[in-house]
Amino acid sequence: MARLGTISAIILAVLGAAGCQSSGGVSGPMAESEQCWWVHTCFDVAQTADKRGAAIALDYKGSFEPFAVQVRTSVSGMDGTWLEKETFILQKPRQIPILDVKAGTTGSWDWRWSFDQHPGAVPAIHDDRALYRLPYRDGETYEVIQGYGGNFSHNGDNFYSIDWDMPVGTAVLAARGGIVVSARGDSNRKGRGWDNHVIIRHPDGTYAWYLHLQQNGVTVQPGQSVEAGALIGHSGDTGFSSRAHLHFQVSALSADPDKFYASFPTRFWTADGEIAQLRKGGRYKAMSLPSS
Ligand SMILES: [Zn+2]
Repeated sequence: MARLGTISAIILAVLGAAGCQSSGGVSGPMAESEQCWWVHTCFDVAQTADKRGAAIALDYKGSFEPFAVQVRTSVSGMDGTWLEKETFILQKPRQIPILDVKAGTTGSWDWRWSFDQHPGAVPAIHDDRALYRLPYRDGETYEVIQGYGGNFSHNGDNFYSIDWDMPVGTAVLAARGGIVVSARGDSNRKGRGWDNHVIIRHPDGTYAWYLHLQQNGVTVQPGQSVEAGALIGHSGDTGFSSRAHLHFQVSALSADPDKFYASFPTRFWTADGEIAQLRKGGRYKAMSLPSS
């Protein structure tokens, strides 16, 4: 089910064998590849065939909304330069060297890196008075297949996430109003970074994520203002997803220096009234929000 596409993206680990290598130093030309997370957060990765030499640069392509991109590296037994852990707030195109290392001729060596990203430039706290509608049409019912803390992929910063079992092509509605800040509908691929998605910034500064949407199934664009209940796209099975479903979460950068971002529980309005917490296995019928 339901692997989340947003999170700790790529981890490359290379463990060097200790000592007694006959071939000294870095061998061979650097093979280069570009790895992109969604459209804008790309990394140029170059490494020798034996991985004893590597260079990585962040190649940010630019975005409507500022994104925080956190990069972590761990290097031992190698010469060169690298960023241990750093968070950049990015919006315009920018190139940032992350790591450039070479192993010596003897001894063990190791390099690894990972990154994470989240929209926004500053931390935000969720307004718990906000009431959300279910993100599908009135009268429809879909089963929650992974809820808060779901052990397949709802953990850490994404703890408060919900997955609905949903056939490809189902209309997806905004659960709460706001401004569309990221939208992608061109992907027909599975895997990390390839999710079609819509992200909406709420008035409290938190962001709702609607992931895995159908190719050509996104009906809004960045900058657009939407009300709760507005059609934003159609569900699918793109990106880091193992079956057709809709992933939903509300999250924001965290003020806690030990956390990068935090997700928040949200209250939903249903045909049976208000539900404080949707449960795995639950089937909830959608209804328009009561007029306040
Ligand atoms: Zn999910």
